[in-house]
This record gives sequence, C-alpha cells and structure tokens, in this order.
Amino acid sequence: MPNLGRAINNPPRGPRPITARAITERKPMPTNITDANPTGITDYNIHRFAQLPEWQHLAQAINTVVLAANRARIPGDEDDFVEAIAHLARGVAFMDCCEQCENSLDDDAGFVDTSAAPYTTTIDGGWLHGRYRCWQGHEWTCGYALDHWLYQ
Ligand SMILES: [Zn+2]
Repeated sequence: MPNLGRAINNPPRGPRPITARAITERKPMPTNITDANPTGITDYNIHRFAQLPEWQHLAQAINTVVLAANRARIPGDEDDFVEAIAHLARGVAFMDCCEQCENSLDDDAGFVDTSAAPYTTTIDGGWLHGRYRCWQGHEWTCGYALDHWLYQ
C-alpha cells in the first residue's frame, strides 16, 4: 500500500509499491456467469492481503457500505459500486487531512486520523483537484501534482 507518511526524499525500495497507477493499470476483472454460477465470481486467492487484520476491516467496511447503500437506496448497480471502489482505491494515494477536525483536537489527543480520500476528482494540467468529505461531514478541496514519484 502507498506509505503516505514517508518522507518525500525517501523513495521506496524493494517490491514495487501499490500506487494509483498500478491500480489503474490492472487487468479487467474476469467473470464467469453460468447457470450454475449466476454470480460470475471466479477462482481467486488474495491470501497475501488477507493475512493483514486491516484487510478484514476493509471487508467488513465494504459490507457495511453495501448494506447502508441498499438501505439508503443509492442509485446504481453492482458495476457502479465496484467502479466506485476502484476509484476509491486509486484516490487513497491522494488522501488529505481535514483542517477543521485537526484544529478541533486537544493538544494531548495523540494521533487522530482525520484523513479522507477524494470523492470526486478532476484531472487538469498535470494536477489532480479533489473534493473531500471527512467523517464529520466537513468538506474541502485539495490539489496534487501528478508527476510526483509517489504517484508513479
Ligand atoms: Zn473534518
């Protein structure tokens, strides 16, 4: 996963990190819809990630979002949802912290993650312009240069 906390002048070593570009270059997801398998789900093995406790949090979070989206009757189908998850996965590389939440923290609050991924983006002139919404509903915009090595 992209390590957003690493220093700008400390490029990664070792295996290629997961970046927005790597996610964008992914192969189309295979499906195999048959009478016996109307879901189209295929064989897969994601054990590399499943060993992480955070992966289980992600699975539970996605399930929670699916249930909430169904309750709220958010328009769209499964393809829209999968596409939104893919956009979110790419957008994680461009997370930004909520200034309003940061300013409301007590000095002794310790680390509180106020970051959010952009929920809408516009790519223009080598920049990503994102619009963000935090847990508390605060909204803001932020821009990132796309030629930074973090995003390659
Ligand atoms: Zn906030």
